[in-house]
Amino acid sequence: MEKNFKTEIDQAFQSALDAQKGGDAKWNEVMLTYGAEPLPDSDRQKLLGSEMKIARGAFPIELRRVFEKIAVKYPNDSQGFDMDSRILEYYQKIKPFSGLGDIFSNASTGTAKYSQGFRNEKQSTYKCKNCGAPRLEEMQYDNCMFCGSKLFVPA
Ligand SMILES: [Zn+2]
Repeated sequence: MEKNFKTEIDQAFQSALDAQKGGDAKWNEVMLTYGAEPLPDSDRQKLLGSEMKIARGAFPIELRRVFEKIAVKYPNDSQGFDMDSRILEYYQKIKPFSGLGDIFSNASTGTAKYSQGFRNEKQSTYKCKNCGAPRLEEMQYDNCMFCGSKLFVPA
């Protein structure tokens, strides 16, 4: 297959999606091929325990790191590439399936309980504009830990 910006982006997207929940050795190999830095294990564990649940695949922030490397490789073709929306599209695919049961339980007490619990326990006042991940205030960082987006907005 011919290699170009689009095919490499699509291939990275698929590799991340095919990885086991939170990533695996094969995905690490893809990241290393591009010179993208895998998450430290401590961050991986933190994300696995966070409320940003995933059912499969590598974490979006790692896919973004590979996308960034591909974008540098094809400076012209990557002009106008909407990385945030591609990362969000990826996140939609690795989210746990939510059926009707989920919708009903979220509509009643689930959501309120969750958000209140979160506010109380973790003091989060900001969330990621791209994926909705809360910013953990006990940690200092400017990019979303989950998807890597730069933008945070008041929750
Ligand atoms: Zn995010």
